[in-house]
Amino acid sequence: MTAIGIIGCNGRMGRAIRTELEAKGLPYAGGVDKGEGDLSALIQRSDVLIDFSTPAALKDTLEDCMLAKKPVVIGTTGLEEAHHHLIDAASHTIPVLQTGNMSLGVNLLAALVESAAARLGDDWDIEIVEMHHRHKVDAPSGTALLLGEAAARGRGIALAEHKESGRDGITGARARGAIGFAALRGGSVAGDHQVIFATDDERIEIGHRAENRAIFARGAVKAALWLGAQSAGRYDMKNVLGL
Ligand code: NAP
Repeated sequence: MTAIGIIGCNGRMGRAIRTELEAKGLPYAGGVDKGEGDLSALIQRSDVLIDFSTPAALKDTLEDCMLAKKPVVIGTTGLEEAHHHLIDAASHTIPVLQTGNMSLGVNLLAALVESAAARLGDDWDIEIVEMHHRHKVDAPSGTALLLGEAAARGRGIALAEHKESGRDGITGARARGAIGFAALRGGSVAGDHQVIFATDDERIEIGHRAENRAIFARGAVKAALWLGAQSAGRYDMKNVLGL
């Protein structure tokens, strides 16, 4: 049976994944947390790693996974371009799955958003609104960016060139073709996302509400079991879910 190791094992997601492993009777190889545990030893004794920690931990995780030739699932969000380059480079040596959202529902929503964006012209403004618990440190959320990427792909444009976030003060009128982001923070919300397509006189709104972290933990474990059987390469949840 696949033994799964967790990076960030005492965090909210780390704990949810441990609960999921226990519920499924799957072996837990152990975990590391900030300043606690030996990362290389954990990687050696694991068949697959799951990382829900912080972007600062990513470089060491990828380097040690490459040395030990172990697959890794990355759920950590707030990744920057340099982190994505590191993931691309590692994926030549080991299987790496990275996603801003592990749930079936959100990945299906992304497919719907891509399809809608492909059919609607840029006279339909796209806005993505998200809400998360008060402890979340990055914005927009990894899921909001995943949905923005899906919309941009549908439109055949690069998100980086059309992203509009953090509006405040005299911002000027909305740019045609922009993809807007708004982030709300409060309480214990596990993750709400709404994608709005708005044109003159009508609006389409599609969204997803995560009721708790179990959906991400379930997806992460499913992804880890799937990734353990893959060859080197970069993957996301669409590959796991066959979307
Ligand atoms: P959290 O409760 O803050 O947990 C993160 C854990 O990682 C903490 O225990 C933290 O320890 C630990 N950590 C920090 N630096 C580390 C390092 N260098 N090495 C090992 N562990 C380290 O956060 P969370 O809510 O579980 O979320 C974790 C990440 O997953 C966030 O980026 C979040 O946005 C993302 N997330 C992704 C999905 C998805 O589906 N992809 C879903 C939910 C959350 P300290 O507390 O001591 O710093």
